[in-house]
Amino acid sequence: MNGSIAEVIVDVAAYPVDRPFDYLIPEEMRDLIESGSRVKVPFGPRNVLGFVVSIKNETDFAIEKMKPIAKLLDIEPVLTSEMLTLSKWLKHDTICYEIDVLQAMLPSALRAKYEKFAVLQVNVEQLSFLLQPYFKQTKKVNYNVFEKDQLLHELKIAIKQKQIVIENVVKQKGTIKEVRKVKIIDSITELHTIYESISNRAKKQKELVEWMMEHVGQIFNPKDILEKLNCSDPVLHSVIEQGAAEFIQEEVYREVFTKDVKKTGFLDLTDEQSIALEQIIHAMEQQASETFLLHGITGSGKTEIYLQAIEHCLNDGKEAIVLVPEISLTPQMTERFRSRFGELVAVMHSGLSVGEKYDEWRKIHEGKVKVVVGARSAVFAPFENVGILIIDEEHESTYKQEDTPRYHARDVAIWRSKFHQCPVILGSATPSLESFARAKKKVYTLLTLKNRAVSHSLLPQVEIVDMREELKNGNRSMFSEKLVDAIRTRLDRKEQMVLFLNRRGYSSFVMCRDCGTVVQCENCDISLTYHRANEKLKCHYCGFEQRVPTICPECQSDHIRYFGTGTQKVEEEIAKLFPEARVLRMDVDTTKTKGSHERILEEFGKGHADILLGTQMIAKGLDFPNITLVGVLSADTSLHLPDFRSAEKTFQLLTQVSGRAGRHTLPGEVVIQSYTPEHYAIELAKDQQYEPFYEREMWTRHQAGYPPYYYLALIQVSHEDVLMASEYAGKAVDYLRSNLSFNVSIIGPTASSISRLQNRYRYQCLIKYKVEPNLIDTFIQLIKIYRSDWIKKGIQLTVDLNPSSI
Ligand code: ADP
Ligand code: ZN
Ligand code: ZN
Repeated sequence: MNGSIAEVIVDVAAYPVDRPFDYLIPEEMRDLIESGSRVKVPFGPRNVLGFVVSIKNETDFAIEKMKPIAKLLDIEPVLTSEMLTLSKWLKHDTICYEIDVLQAMLPSALRAKYEKFAVLQVNVEQLSFLLQPYFKQTKKVNYNVFEKDQLLHELKIAIKQKQIVIENVVKQKGTIKEVRKVKIIDSITELHTIYESISNRAKKQKELVEWMMEHVGQIFNPKDILEKLNCSDPVLHSVIEQGAAEFIQEEVYREVFTKDVKKTGFLDLTDEQSIALEQIIHAMEQQASETFLLHGITGSGKTEIYLQAIEHCLNDGKEAIVLVPEISLTPQMTERFRSRFGELVAVMHSGLSVGEKYDEWRKIHEGKVKVVVGARSAVFAPFENVGILIIDEEHESTYKQEDTPRYHARDVAIWRSKFHQCPVILGSATPSLESFARAKKKVYTLLTLKNRAVSHSLLPQVEIVDMREELKNGNRSMFSEKLVDAIRTRLDRKEQMVLFLNRRGYSSFVMCRDCGTVVQCENCDISLTYHRANEKLKCHYCGFEQRVPTICPECQSDHIRYFGTGTQKVEEEIAKLFPEARVLRMDVDTTKTKGSHERILEEFGKGHADILLGTQMIAKGLDFPNITLVGVLSADTSLHLPDFRSAEKTFQLLTQVSGRAGRHTLPGEVVIQSYTPEHYAIELAKDQQYEPFYEREMWTRHQAGYPPYYYLALIQVSHEDVLMASEYAGKAVDYLRSNLSFNVSIIGPTASSISRLQNRYRYQCLIKYKVEPNLIDTFIQLIKIYRSDWIKKGIQLTVDLNPSSI
């Protein structure tokens, strides 16, 4: 039997087996179903969602016992064959269910309730005779009608010929917007007849029809017609009733861009930029899936290189995918792309509603745009002819998804570049250690920009202030004298400044204010985390704990205490010190509502405030000419996170914020306050000395056995009952110990850094390894045990390969 059996991945979470199931394709669906379509299939007692991943003629099962597909959801596939292949790889690479990957590739609107419509794209006469009657009155017909009348085959043919497209309309807030328009009929003779039939007393009607005769077949906004001809609504209605025109629903994409953008031209590249761009273009021309690491200091013009590489890609008739971290998807960034490529750009970020995201996805799916600029998940943009993939700020941890599927956008981008035979650009001023190490090994091609692109714009002058000295001199405030002076100068000169409060994560630590000592774990070289509840310090790597000391173990001072400040407290202090300063605060609290992020930046850009105060949210993408001072209130906070990447993250953060100052002609100054100014991450960030930092940090990682020398995997086990959680974490560890080789070190189980979340107690185990051929299989076996047995007992187990934080 030809094409009679479909392999379907079903949406049954927690089923121990992750493989496709065979279903019979009913006769009437034979020519309709394709790989990549979604279906409803019987599974156990109910119908569940499934994805058709392939169609075949034979099966090992008895045909009589096989169940038929119950319903076809997509007459047109929603996933390309590339995505189906990618999902197989990704499921293996991240150890998860294939269904989770497939779902992650699609906009969430497709998981919501929606209604389907067939929308006419051509003149109705071009349709087959069977379909014509349906589209005589309207361009848009409910899909159910064709299903009921058994015309799906005809519909599918029309879709293939691009006469009709299927549109899913989400049944919730933020659906596709429609506007009512007036379409003038095509026939001038008919209009003339209508004109003749209107009595001379109805002067306005006659005028209107006369005007319509000059605009045969055209579509107008009713409002525009009324204004243009200065006539009333009833006049228009009456003319339409007589058949001179009709009302049609025209769908518009919701405009995700708030304002119009001026077109800008390409800049003349600097020598450094040209050399980099040439190599990228060369790879495009050779159709080589080469990965470039574009290492350029802040303001060196990396974005301009992206833009020109994309231009080349579009001229080749190909598409471009650009990923930027969620928090730098600022209007400033997206405008730069829109100003070059206009309507060819789709933007995808979490600030959009479900419907808006779906609109953007559809523009890509239907080939209406050629460039997508988006956060992590835009890496799945369903382009079919990708010419370049770009990941800006490639070191950002947000490119790794924290939930299943735990994929890294960089890995997916590189996979797609191989599929499409095109280059990938990873751009950063502070590349991740992993990427730079790969570039050094020539796995990636290194491109370097050492100078700022705008001539005369120099890197800002950076000064580090030792806060221990401030305390010795009797200054107990969170502002050093140096910073206070610098702020005052800017207020006098009417220049703008950014104050950055380095606050990352949930953790807090205990620090000696006299000598800067932070208590570390004796086993792990990682800062101990302060637990307020029982006044203890704990190591989240190995479980070591101790009481909070009352005197500093290094200098015996009793100024040792919990460390941490909120933006609000800083704002209050600014108000006291500089009552005249106008402050805009940007943190999680002030950016909760949609568009608030943009509004704050716009206010600041217009010069409505002197000081922009914020968390790491403001570290990136800001490019305002009038900023001449950046103050970092507490460089140390991120340095003492219980994470082996804390030094790297601190260096990245300080480099990023410093890069906000003096980007244009006004010289910039940066003041960094620290209790541990001698730490290499802070010292080397002063002059943006990336390579010395890289060497130093690599040495540390080597000593301690962390990535990129070793790989990590994180197993987490949680349960509502603390004993259950720890018992099963123990079982997981026992299983791994007895199945993995001695080359693997298994650390744990220990309580997770958030030991209780949503009423579940969490335990974790960290696995360090170099080469362990058995590893993935062992994990898969463990997950099988968990899915077939533990899950019933309320246990949750997750496996995260290369976790972004621990
Ligand atoms: P990066 O992405 O490396 O931080 P940008 O691309 O944002 O750098 O460039 C920094 C500034 O330099 C921007 O204002 C940009 O318009 C400008 N710029 C970039 N390339 C050039 C060039 N070739 N000539 C003049 N100005 C440039
Ligand atoms: Zn001390
Ligand atoms: Zn430890």
